[in-house]
Amino acid sequence: MQFRDLGAQYKVLKDEIDTAIQDVINSSSFILGKPISELENKLAEYVGRNYCITCANGTEALQLSLMAMDIGPGDAVFTSDFTYFASAGCVSILGATPILVDINLETFNISPEALEDAIKRIISEGKQTPKAIIPVDLFGLPANYDKIIPIANKYGLKVLEDAAQGFGGNINGRMSCSFGNVSATSFFPAKPLGCYGDGGAIFTDNNEINLRLRSLRASGKSPVDKYDNREIGLNSRLDTLQAAILLPKFKAFVEWELDAINNVARWYDEKLKAKYVTPTIPKGYYSSWAQYTILLDNKEQRDAMQQKLKASGIPSMIYYPRGIHQQQAYKEMGLKDDFFSNTIEATQRALSLPMHPYLKEDDVNKIVKIILR
Ligand SMILES: *Cc1c(COP(=O)(O)O)cnc(C)c1O
Repeated sequence: MQFRDLGAQYKVLKDEIDTAIQDVINSSSFILGKPISELENKLAEYVGRNYCITCANGTEALQLSLMAMDIGPGDAVFTSDFTYFASAGCVSILGATPILVDINLETFNISPEALEDAIKRIISEGKQTPKAIIPVDLFGLPANYDKIIPIANKYGLKVLEDAAQGFGGNINGRMSCSFGNVSATSFFPAKPLGCYGDGGAIFTDNNEINLRLRSLRASGKSPVDKYDNREIGLNSRLDTLQAAILLPKFKAFVEWELDAINNVARWYDEKLKAKYVTPTIPKGYYSSWAQYTILLDNKEQRDAMQQKLKASGIPSMIYYPRGIHQQQAYKEMGLKDDFFSNTIEATQRALSLPMHPYLKEDDVNKIVKIILR
C-alpha cells in the first residue's frame, strides 16, 4: 500500500498525460508555452480570482508574493508554528522576521486569538513593523478567514494565503486560493493537485500585483523587453511540460478526485471516530484532504501505532515532528515551548494515514482494522 498512490492516478490518465507531454516536445515551446496561459486561465476561473501567475514551486510562490508586497528587513510577518518550513522561511529569506503563532488543536490551523495576541505583543515591543499574516490551509482545510481577515483589517495588515495544501478546499463555496490579498499554492507531486516535479502558482485580484509578479518570476524584466531588468527578481517559471501535465490532472481533480477523496475521509471518520480523535471540519468548510490526520492520546501511543501499521505494510507519516519554533534554523530566536502548547501537542499526538482519491474502501477497512486491534 502507498501513502499517496500517484501511479494509480497515472493509470487512469495515462493516454491524456502522454499525449500532453508529446505535444510539448513536438512544439519545442518549453518555456512559457501555450499550456501555461491555458492553465493560468483555468485555475484563476476555478478559484474565483482575476489572475493566476504560475511559478517554479510553492516556496517561491510565497517568496514572490512577499516581494510583491514589498516585505523586507524590519517587517514582522505572522504565520502558523505548525506547518511546512517554507511558510516561515519565505519571510526570513527576505530579511523580515516571521512571528510564529500557536494553532487551534481541532483544525491544526493558526489560532485567531493567539494571532491577535502576537500582533499586540509585536506592536507594544516596537522592534518590528507588523506588515502581513500568512495563514496556512493545513492538511487541505482552509484557515479561519472569517476571524483572520477582520483582524488583518483592524491592524492594517496584508494577508498572504499559504494554500500549498489547500487547493480545492472552500468555505461556504468560496474557494481556497481566493482569501486575502494574494494566495500561493504548490504543485509538488503529493499536494492535492500535483505535477510531475516542482511547480507553484500565485493568485490575486490586483492587476498591479499580477504584472509585478510576472516580472518578478522572470528576473524583474520589463513587460516588453526581457533584457530590460527593472528590479531584482527570481528565475521562477513553471515549465510548459508541467503545465501540460497539470491540465488533464486538473480536469480529473475537479470532475471526480475531490469527491472521491472526501468519500475516503468519510469512511475513515465513520470507522474511527468512536475510538480516536478524527479531523474536525467546521460547519460550512470543505477540505481537499492533503492529509488525513488523527490524534492519539500521547506520543507513546502514536509512535506505537505507527510501528504497528508499519509491521503490516501500511505507511503513515508524522506531520509535523516539530514546530517551526523548534527548528534548528530558528534556534537564535530562542523561542520557548510555553507559547506553543497546541503545536507541541500536535507534534506528539498527530498521525497522518494513507490518503488519496484512488484509495478503496477495502484498503481503508484493512488500515482501520489494524488501528482498532
Ligand atoms: C509544500 C508546502 C510549501 C512549499 O511548496 P513547494 O512546492 O514544496 O516548495 C509551502 N507551504 C506549505 C504549507 C506546504 O505544505
